[in-house]
Amino acid sequence: MTDKIENPLTRFYDGKFEKQAQEAPALQQKMNPIPDCGESSYQGSGKLTGRKALITGGDSGIGRAAAIAYAREGADVAINYLPFEEADAKEVKTLIEAQGRKAVLVPGDLKEETFTRKLIHEAAEKLGGLDILVLNAGMQQSVAKIKDLSTQQIMDTYTTNIISMYWAVQEALDYLPKGGSIITTTSIQSAEPSSNLLDYAATKGAITSFSKGLAAQLAASGIRVNTVAPGPIWTALQICGGQPAEKIPEFGQQELIGRAGQPAELAAVYVFLASNEASYVTGQVYSITGGSFFA
Ligand code: NAD
Ligand code: MG
Repeated sequence: MTDKIENPLTRFYDGKFEKQAQEAPALQQKMNPIPDCGESSYQGSGKLTGRKALITGGDSGIGRAAAIAYAREGADVAINYLPFEEADAKEVKTLIEAQGRKAVLVPGDLKEETFTRKLIHEAAEKLGGLDILVLNAGMQQSVAKIKDLSTQQIMDTYTTNIISMYWAVQEALDYLPKGGSIITTTSIQSAEPSSNLLDYAATKGAITSFSKGLAAQLAASGIRVNTVAPGPIWTALQICGGQPAEKIPEFGQQELIGRAGQPAELAAVYVFLASNEASYVTGQVYSITGGSFFA
């Protein structure tokens, strides 16, 4: 790692992607190139010393980048993911423990209310508290025509992406202290919905509104709530049906920066929003899009 000035256009992989597809949920470790979650680059400086964080979808992609960064900033970290993703999750555990921090793995399906409520208590009990809740898990399946969108997919997308957030927050309020932080992951799709993502984009719109409203409700308790809106980021979500397969090679290249983003490029914002440095920041949308304006 070096702090020398770097050209954003070429700082990360800027070529075309190989066509590739996996069944959902995909394993990040089988992707080519493997998404860069800051494994060899993120340097901490004690911004989250002693904090306890739970990150959903912490096995891969954006959640994994946040998990690595949080551990390097001194936090103990619990991650949730689907049981199929155990291999990715184990890598994250190793990376967290390499920092001398505690890693708690809680696999399970956020579509199940009982599990989601239990997840919060299990994470808080094993970590010895809960200061930071990152609600980042999400599913995305591209379907070109609304007539082909199954009720099952609509229900699954809504339950995973937004309904589970209500359950998680209801339980987390038993633990979050003054100074606690809730961070959700929305999307540029909240502001600029694609025609092939009618279910997904609508849940992202809901996450944005939910996060702003929750910030207002919790402000007086000293708990801040913010949401991060990524643009096209190279992650497992995209190669297991999130994009039409023929669009994978060009993924992200239409953005002003001219390439897809990497999860590592989002980590600092998740750290900032969780830290004391963001004490005057609540109810906000932070966009990291490669150029698209979130409005
Ligand atoms: P990712 O596939 O690496 O991470 C998503 C994670 O969600 C998975 O690892 C999985 O553990 C979890 N998940 C999905 N369904 C679940 C369920 N039913 N129960 C428990 N966990 C479940 O992809 P990512 O891109 O890092 O996704 C993280 C977040 O970022 C998502 O909310 C996604 O919508 C959002 N996002 C991604 C992009 C992008 O271009 N990659 C853009 C905007 C927003
Ligand atoms: Mg994953």
